[in-house]
Amino acid sequence: MSFLARHGYRMAVALIAFGILVMTNASAQDQAASGKVAIVVHGGAGTILRENMSAEREEAYRTALEHALRTGHAILTAGGSSVDAVVTAIQTMEESPLFNAGVGAVFTNKGTVELDASIMDGHDLRAGAVAAVSTVKSPIELARVIMDQSVHVMMVGEGAEQYAQTHGLELVDNSHFHTERRLLQLKRAQEREGAGEVGAVIGSEDPVEGLDEKFGTVGVVALDMDGDLAAGTSTGGMTNKRFGRVGDSPIIGAGTYADNESCAVSATGHGEYFIRGTLAHDVCAIMRYTGLTLVESANAVIHGRLTEMGGTGGVISMDRDGNIAMPFNTAGMYRGFIDVNGALSISIYND
Ligand code: ASP
Repeated sequence: MSFLARHGYRMAVALIAFGILVMTNASAQDQAASGKVAIVVHGGAGTILRENMSAEREEAYRTALEHALRTGHAILTAGGSSVDAVVTAIQTMEESPLFNAGVGAVFTNKGTVELDASIMDGHDLRAGAVAAVSTVKSPIELARVIMDQSVHVMMVGEGAEQYAQTHGLELVDNSHFHTERRLLQLKRAQEREGAGEVGAVIGSEDPVEGLDEKFGTVGVVALDMDGDLAAGTSTGGMTNKRFGRVGDSPIIGAGTYADNESCAVSATGHGEYFIRGTLAHDVCAIMRYTGLTLVESANAVIHGRLTEMGGTGGVISMDRDGNIAMPFNTAGMYRGFIDVNGALSISIYND
């Protein structure tokens, strides 16, 4: 019997099965690439209480969140990629002194600013991350260049800064990021530390402003016309941090994750818990492997795992259909979205 006669039937079955698989994949892609776009942003979660917030301050946050959303959304509606939208929206918040990212980032124990950021493309699982840089004007831009132009995922400190310089990124003096408000927060944290208050550095609340000293990280997730998801996060980390401490924000899987097969996630909160639980990836994994919806998966991670671990924070997340989930277990989280219908929403408190 010839090879073909012996194996022809099996080959035909295999070819048909392969064809069905390709067709199923293709139709799944067509379905996802509905031409609809959506974007979600966060500006950090923490002890954000209405009674501690002035009307002007609240308005300033709402305006900055809306600006980030509209900037990213304009890129998406013009046919730009979700990666472009994420980077550009985050840059508006890195430039705003309101958030703990770029200008207005928190101070380290040494009175300097050290920045972390990461980005991930859900289309092909490429990722870029940067940690502990102090002269790169836009850490999210550097994360993107690392993703696009290097063979690596993560670069830190001096090496990352050299890489930024050789790739023509703008470098600034560290004082570019400094603000009076954050300096005051550092002084208060150090006074309390000096007075022997244990835990003054991690998870403490600013007694004057009532605002959490470490939160204020920014993050964006976006869905573009091709049905591609992306996620990014940028932060100064924690007030009074030392020893080169790096949180979850630049760690792929902990603070940022995107996969077209499930969802895109950016986290904010007490980074050590997000690292230990690989919580951003967990949202995607629960969705992918259990068949739970995005909302169910994100809630399971924040109100289940994170809370059970004793951690605080939240995530913003979106799937390929443009479903959005933004759970948090803190008093508030600066957050907002423009959904697939173009509806804009901005919220701060837990109501
Ligand atoms: N997750 C950040 C960190 O631990 C802090 C934040 O989200 O505000 O560095």
